[in-house]
Amino acid sequence: MGLLQNITKRMPSSGLPSLDDFSKRKNRITPRLAFFRRRIRLRGNSSISIPLGVVLLFPCIVIILILVLFLRHPSSPGRILMPAGAPPSIRKISEQHDRVFATGCLDPHTQNKGERANAAFVVLARNKELEGVIQSVKSIERHFNRWFHYPYVFLNDGEFNSTFKETVMNYTSAPVEFGQIDPSMWGFPEWTDAKVAKEGIAVQGDAAIMYGGMESYHHMCRFYSGFFYKHKLLEKYEWYWRLEPEIKYFCDITYDPFQYMASANKTYGFTIAVKELKETVPNIFRYASAYKRKNNLQSKGLWEMFIESPPEDPKPLPKDDPKYKPPLPDELRKIEPNAGGVNEVDPETMEGEKYNMCHFWSNFEIARLDWFRSKEYEEFFDMMDRSGGFWMERWGDAPIHSLAAGALLSPSDIHYFRDFGYRHTTIQHCPANAPSRQLPREPFLEKTTSDEKKRREEDEYWESWDPEKENGVGCRCRCDTDIVDVEGKQGSCLAEWVEVAGGWASP
Ligand code: GDP
Ligand code: MN
Repeated sequence: MGLLQNITKRMPSSGLPSLDDFSKRKNRITPRLAFFRRRIRLRGNSSISIPLGVVLLFPCIVIILILVLFLRHPSSPGRILMPAGAPPSIRKISEQHDRVFATGCLDPHTQNKGERANAAFVVLARNKELEGVIQSVKSIERHFNRWFHYPYVFLNDGEFNSTFKETVMNYTSAPVEFGQIDPSMWGFPEWTDAKVAKEGIAVQGDAAIMYGGMESYHHMCRFYSGFFYKHKLLEKYEWYWRLEPEIKYFCDITYDPFQYMASANKTYGFTIAVKELKETVPNIFRYASAYKRKNNLQSKGLWEMFIESPPEDPKPLPKDDPKYKPPLPDELRKIEPNAGGVNEVDPETMEGEKYNMCHFWSNFEIARLDWFRSKEYEEFFDMMDRSGGFWMERWGDAPIHSLAAGALLSPSDIHYFRDFGYRHTTIQHCPANAPSRQLPREPFLEKTTSDEKKRREEDEYWESWDPEKENGVGCRCRCDTDIVDVEGKQGSCLAEWVEVAGGWASP
């Protein structure tokens, strides 16, 4: 743009009108436009001159082009500059390995005609979480289980009190079982030195690692990583749907996800994939990678979802570039630190790969139990467990499940429930509603709300659902508006999933 400063504006030289000037006269009818026809010279003494309009127009076009390209780029942070009311459009994901089971609403009364799957909701909870549990049960009953009546299994390391049990049963007409977890599945195993483990946990507390200093949280993560599927009350089931206290569903689920998972030959389903806090799992990847190597496992295409993409090699400079440095002779390369010899090994990498912290967020999961019960998963868990990472670090069950899936499964074994609107704490995924695929909703008047007016209001809230939108897949979704969808947020691993699932199918 420095060029503009060199431009000196000059009036066209005055003098007797030439023939040429006569031919231009008709243009003077519009004097305002004539301003832009004034010619200016590029330098004071230059013989070349251009119309002022062109000089003014050129930088404007450049600026507009830059803005358009910047804002249109899908991964551009500039998207947040877009005015409200023009949210980014929804992109389609390739259906090469996985596709949404139902776009928009189906008729639940037709859908529930068939057989039920051998499946249950699994809820781990404590008595003090009763309120949060009620919220979750109410939500899943309203949006799904009022049509499908899948049973619930509640598990606790302690004993559920009668208030908890009686209250919960009021909120569903489906069968409910309550079970206690015995010490073989909870707490320090006999082969660990509990004193060392407790010290390890204390250190993480001092380091302010999230939940790091909370012993019960470590036990919970280990239970969900390697034991829940072996609990006596789950033995009879083939499938489970994990439910946590204080979650919310936003859309109606008008089909049976277990049956669709079975028909599509799926093993594991998720709604949200995000990045883990690095300090909770510093060494998890080295062990997972070692497991993969020890068993000679080749990636089936999912492992890459969890690998940091290698930085692009910087282009070698041309030899005439002033910054060009010739490569060191071999003898020197061995001495010079960080010059490409052995010293360049990154302590965080394993087999040249680095964990990108992505994982399926396991507070929601619909999965096949026999995968967890398989010899391969069992060996994976055992190797991870023996490393001590559940105590000396704060490994979550989410990265454990995800890295096991990465080592053992392929993208086509995984299902993204993109049509499920779901919220846990401050993260939500909530789809837009599918155009022309909405069906009228039947009221669901909850029996436990005694206040008649409140009961109706609670239901009426769900009667006015969000607008339909191109490429939306939801059925009667009404999303919370205080937070934005995780799909478009930093820390989301949607892009990583899309990459292994076959890429984007729309711009
Ligand atoms: P977050 O979702 O990671 O913030 O962790 P939560 O506190 O929600 O715990 C995850 C799940 O484990 C929830 O279903 C909790 O109810 C359950 N949970 C966590 N700690 C314990 C525990 O010590 N005992 C029992 N019985 N359940 C627990
Ligand atoms: Mn939770």
